[in-house]
Amino acid sequence: MATALMDFDKALELFEPVIGLEVHIELNTKTKMFSSAGNPANEEFHAAAPNTLLAPVDLGLPGSMPVVNREAVLSSISLGLALGCSIAPSSRFARKNYFYPDLGKNYQISQYDEPIAFEGSVEVELTDGTIVEVPIERAHMEEDAGKLTHQGGSAGRIQGASSSLVDYNRAGVPLVEIVTKPIFGAEERAPELAKAYLLTIRDIARSLGISEARMERGNVRCDANVSLRPRGAEALGTRTETKNVNSMRSVERAVRYEIRRQAAILSAGGSITQETRHWHEDTGETSPGRPKSDADDYRYFPEPDLLPVAPSEELIEQLRARLPEAPAAKRRRLKGEWGFTDLEFQDVANGGLVDEVEATIAAGATPAAARKWWTGELTRVANAADREPSGLVSPAHVAELQKLIDDGTLTDKLARQVLEGVVAGEGSPQEVVDARGLAVVSDDGALIAAIDEALQAQPDVLEKIKGGKVQAAGAIIGAVMKSMKGQADAARVRELILERAQA
Ligand code: ADP
Ligand code: MG
Repeated sequence: MATALMDFDKALELFEPVIGLEVHIELNTKTKMFSSAGNPANEEFHAAAPNTLLAPVDLGLPGSMPVVNREAVLSSISLGLALGCSIAPSSRFARKNYFYPDLGKNYQISQYDEPIAFEGSVEVELTDGTIVEVPIERAHMEEDAGKLTHQGGSAGRIQGASSSLVDYNRAGVPLVEIVTKPIFGAEERAPELAKAYLLTIRDIARSLGISEARMERGNVRCDANVSLRPRGAEALGTRTETKNVNSMRSVERAVRYEIRRQAAILSAGGSITQETRHWHEDTGETSPGRPKSDADDYRYFPEPDLLPVAPSEELIEQLRARLPEAPAAKRRRLKGEWGFTDLEFQDVANGGLVDEVEATIAAGATPAAARKWWTGELTRVANAADREPSGLVSPAHVAELQKLIDDGTLTDKLARQVLEGVVAGEGSPQEVVDARGLAVVSDDGALIAAIDEALQAQPDVLEKIKGGKVQAAGAIIGAVMKSMKGQADAARVRELILERAQA
């Protein structure tokens, strides 16, 4: 049976949406959170054979003892400071007990009542430039779990699977979990705010250099809590927690979907089950996960194998002094420097492309060209492949591609073909031009030969041009472009045709 959904505007008339976001960020430390096993960058990490990035601690082998990764602590403090949080003079790790087939110890080392950072707020900019202050409850350190691969079922799901494989490479990778307080007052913009918040957190993590922060790689993962309360009611409604919505577009869609679903249930006199829900990217729906009570009994207790983390005031101040410009402030500055209109800048900012455009300009492109590539062709290609534009190509390659257009090696159309090759991993733009033979044919001899051939096929055209009908040249230009597979400069072809007519 199809899930009943209420029209979004109608839902907003009857109910106030309240959201809460939990975002996990994988840190790019050299080693894991509690062991000396390697934690290489995405490309190398994903190329590693299963169960090769391991130390005894990551498997929970008897007698192995965790050691806190200093670099992860420094990254977490920096992130906490960037979120406007207070840093705890002393914070503790706790064991979260749970059956984790992908975490060999059968408990996760996390933080519970003594997180490293708490009580902050972060400025989030909506698509029209409105700034919203999102209150942060806490940011805490923990370790990631490994990965299960289910076999024999459909689409890698556990349902119907006959066996599962476990890869512990990711077990113990350092995470920071950032938890917002309940967010009120966003109203019909709650879905958009969820997306903008995620984007802001990603940008902060990148600006601090503490994570590659690539969503499509799972470096940034979001759980979205949503509840509704009837207009005028005081008490908060029952929330659902949609797990692992891992793109900016999905978090917006998931929040919107939950608002519509919950509104339909509540207005029909039903009640919301407090539960986790799964997000289905393909259908744009959520489905029930496991019931979840506030008092989920994880039997948290202080981790006996680790000392409290007690950063000195001096260390905290050193890290504060080294904080980069906040993404929101940076945007305001760059907008002026680039000379974009409000709309042009919002296009870049809302696509999460400020850093990409900035790096492309640094690599030699003009602001206008950099903007055009990232918000145009690259966004189009990324959307079609359900990826992030930033994951497709490097800013240096984009600048190189533009340079090849500017110096006449490529037309816009050829450049798009070259881009396709770069995205497919065939090398730099110049390498793709060479390998695929895509450069514009600038040799007049070759163009004239193609023109002659076209004129032979349409002998009356030359007479028409001579008789003053210059627009008749269009048919020949078209034929030449076709025979040269688009690799001719149309303006030059036109010049050559007109010269021929005057001869
Ligand atoms: P859990 O352990 O269940 O994940 P957390 O405290 O880690 O709980 O996160 C809960 C998130 O849900 C927080 O962001 C919190 O602000 C938010 N939240 C709590 N109550 C509600 C509610 N009634 N409606 C929407 N969000 C809520
Ligand atoms: Mg949580």
